[in-house]
Amino acid sequence: LNRRLAEFGTTIFAEMSALAVRTGAINLGQGFPDTDGPEEVREAAVRALRDGRGNQYPPGPGIPELRTAVAEHQLARYALTYDPDTEVLITAGATEAIAAALLALVEPGDEVIALEPYYDSYAACVAMAGGTRVPVTLRPRDGAYHLDLDELRDAVTDRTRLILLNTPHNPTGTVLTRAELAAVAELAVERDLLVVTDEVYEHLVYDGEHTPLASFPGMRERTVTISSAGKTFSFTGWKVGWVTATPELVTAVRSAKQFLTYVSAGPFQYAVAEALRLPDTYFEGLRADLRRKRDLLSAGLTAAGFEVYRPAGTYFVTTDIRPLGESDGFAFCRALPERCGVVAVPNAVFYDHRDQGAPFVRFAFCKKDDVLHEAADRLRRLA
Ligand code: PMP
Ligand code: GLN
Repeated sequence: LNRRLAEFGTTIFAEMSALAVRTGAINLGQGFPDTDGPEEVREAAVRALRDGRGNQYPPGPGIPELRTAVAEHQLARYALTYDPDTEVLITAGATEAIAAALLALVEPGDEVIALEPYYDSYAACVAMAGGTRVPVTLRPRDGAYHLDLDELRDAVTDRTRLILLNTPHNPTGTVLTRAELAAVAELAVERDLLVVTDEVYEHLVYDGEHTPLASFPGMRERTVTISSAGKTFSFTGWKVGWVTATPELVTAVRSAKQFLTYVSAGPFQYAVAEALRLPDTYFEGLRADLRRKRDLLSAGLTAAGFEVYRPAGTYFVTTDIRPLGESDGFAFCRALPERCGVVAVPNAVFYDHRDQGAPFVRFAFCKKDDVLHEAADRLRRLA
């Protein structure tokens, strides 16, 4: 393994899901729903397979039907106009979009600012691109995590190439406010930075609302917006994602993407095109369902003695384990299946400043209600 990748080892999600399988514990670690997405979307995939749509290489940028559906989604939800032919690119999940964007836009030695804790692929992709990551730490205060705009401003140097932003934010559940996004936008314009924004949880917002960074003044031309079907439609195994940006930026990302996978998920692209056109009631139902699950698991964790950071979005809840007399999230998560039959993820893996993340542990709540009730009962045994 080369030096760029050596520090990353095995992703925590694989490690914790393997631990869950080995111990038979309830897996609230890796974030994936235990109920598949809508029947009609699954049917659309079966129809495409059966009718021979997408069984051979789809077009490099993605099938026109899906690119059009993505453009219509951005217009209908956010009043953002993108040309499906030149400003939309379909990728193998958001994961490939992130990798391709960084590989295409970062020169060796460039600095990339990311909010810490950050989704684990960010650090690895910055490293593969030869960049240097510059973490800006979200600070826990009054039951929520906050971005310190002065710290963000101070992190920008002459070598900064781009900001890698994520809102709604995994693992903290923070949804950046309009005021915070406006400040990020002003900084990006002032310092002439690109922003790659990971918005895969755009529809999983319970308090406040999601606003794409690209909708702020001066941002459309410097923002690569990334999303995917995994969370929005509960099909994390399909790996259909997308990029919206100017023709120049999309062309750059495609230059890298063509040599990573070239294309993927042909029949699923047809199904996701239909999914994006589901009525508002689908999106409202998803949100209401997950809001209830958030409240259910949060109440269970509070009753079990954790300090809970109430997530405004995503399907994760971050907790502080210090009220339980614990301080090492790694050790806590490794022992948790033995102690009470539950798997969670230590937030420290999402930090460069590991000490900042040490006492925090993340639980996923995208699970059936009875699973969440059972997990909450088991966690109460810790007291
Ligand atoms: N970004 C974030 C913040 C995530 O939590 C995830 C997790 N699944 C991804 C990207 C990856 O998305 P996909 O499964 O579409 O590759
Ligand atoms: N995004 C999911 C999480 O944060 C899982 C992603 C993965 O397994 N790579 O748990």
